[in-house]
Amino acid sequence: MTGTEHDEYDCSRARLQLFEYLDGEMDQDDCTKIREHLAHCGPCLNEYDLDQMLKALVRRACGCEAAPTELRMQIMSRITTIDLTVEFRD
Ligand SMILES: [Zn+2]
Repeated sequence: MTGTEHDEYDCSRARLQLFEYLDGEMDQDDCTKIREHLAHCGPCLNEYDLDQMLKALVRRACGCEAAPTELRMQIMSRITTIDLTVEFRD
């Protein structure tokens, strides 16, 4: 860890951590970072909405909180091929 970890919280990192964020598995610091990022990043916010929807779908599909990663991936690729035309709020 160097002293530069507070900046460069970029989109790829945010998206990687969205699931953890949704699952409430992140610590306070990371939650704050991701929330701040979502606040000013439209594309990531869309991704976040998508993930929330996905999580709800997964829960309904298998009736449990923790879906297998495989199932998540399947549903995820399903959703992303549906071509959601969501308007960015810019
Ligand atoms: Zn972003």
